[in-house]
Amino acid sequence: MSKINRVIGRRIYDSRGRPTIEVEVSVSTGISGRGIAPAGASRGIHEALEMRDGGNLLGGFDVSRAIALVNSEISDALAGMDVHNQRQVDETMIALDGTASKSRLGANSLIATSMAVLNAAAAHARQPLWRYLSNGKAARIPLPEIQIFGGGAHAGRRVDIQDFLIVPLAAESFSQAMIMASDVYWAAGAIMAEKSPPSGVADEGGWWPNFATNEEGLDILARSIRRAGYDDGRVAISLDIAASEFGRSNRYRPALEGRDFTREEWMNVVLQWIKRYPIVSVEDPMSDIDTDGMIEFTRAAPRDIQIIGDDYLVTNAGRIAEAHADDACNAVLIKPNQAGTITETLAALTAAQAVHWGTIMSARSGESEDVSIAHLAVGWNAGQLKVGSFSRSERMAKWNEVLRIEEMMGGEAQFAGKAALSGIRTAGIVSADADHSFK
Ligand code: PGA
Ligand code: ZN
Repeated sequence: MSKINRVIGRRIYDSRGRPTIEVEVSVSTGISGRGIAPAGASRGIHEALEMRDGGNLLGGFDVSRAIALVNSEISDALAGMDVHNQRQVDETMIALDGTASKSRLGANSLIATSMAVLNAAAAHARQPLWRYLSNGKAARIPLPEIQIFGGGAHAGRRVDIQDFLIVPLAAESFSQAMIMASDVYWAAGAIMAEKSPPSGVADEGGWWPNFATNEEGLDILARSIRRAGYDDGRVAISLDIAASEFGRSNRYRPALEGRDFTREEWMNVVLQWIKRYPIVSVEDPMSDIDTDGMIEFTRAAPRDIQIIGDDYLVTNAGRIAEAHADDACNAVLIKPNQAGTITETLAALTAAQAVHWGTIMSARSGESEDVSIAHLAVGWNAGQLKVGSFSRSERMAKWNEVLRIEEMMGGEAQFAGKAALSGIRTAGIVSADADHSFK
């Protein structure tokens, strides 16, 4: 046993230049761990609530109230606890908060503290976090999903689709997957530069979506894959529609499509994209309050498509069990700050793994230099990892950390590869009548 002796919260800034919380937990002289709260821009209505001050300072985004709570109530409650008893630490904070939504202490205070405790425990055990977490059990290097174009709330709603991503299906290692990602990212950059003057990148580092329609984004993504030479099925497309940003239960208003859609009509738009492009995975195709839509979409989509609930499931074990019973989705995005603590995050991941769903560890659009998420993906054997695009250091830090872990594992390293996808469109990639299939 090693006791927690100091918990310190401080204000730092995230990748958007907004204030966020960093917590440092020390167990004894020289041994400590840190955690930094990330922040979403397109949040699910059911996710745990972050605490912001409002008012004039820092545009109302300041977190000084939450930091004060870390430095008083939370610090007092955790002092003297065993740093290796993560469950007890998290349950203590959950009870101290006392609300279902984490609104009293704030999910940002809680996740930064929970993560700091975990990192301090691994440091005390003198192990890298992934090894501490796997604790002798299977640990695999995740299959990455890499954003090429940003959109939605990450790009001033320039297009409706939030993430245009690729999945390097044929990669045999993470290192090879990163080469493929870089090739496609730069092919897309060249195509965008030919099309119009360069206009930078969106929140997660993907090229700014200078597209007239959502479909143009899909076309250019398919062209980028082709230009990079991977249009033989080695690289496929994944989309995060984040439909809650423009849809409710039976009314979808994607700005670029020029009209309103009913649930069925919108569902058919996405299904047509799946038919026409080499898409293997779709996240939040319908809004987070449209349960009937998610069930119908899952029924109507080809069986080999991965259907991810992010805003819909909010890293909540109970919602995952319900969605599994309803047959809505077949995969879940796992974001620790949606749940609020490491213990609840692991419960959500375990619930999904128990029913053989795909599980994707994910960063948020507001990130930092914290690379813990890369270790969680490996140590918990999540199978997939989504941390944004292939530029900006808050993104590259995570990809680079997985490269280090892969190297550190040496011969032990097992790459999850395309088998980690739920569904998985392998041979032929898309149906025979597809317009853009990669043959
Ligand atoms: P967010 O989006 O972090 O802005 O909520 C990320 C995602 O939807 O996957
Ligand atoms: Zn999402």
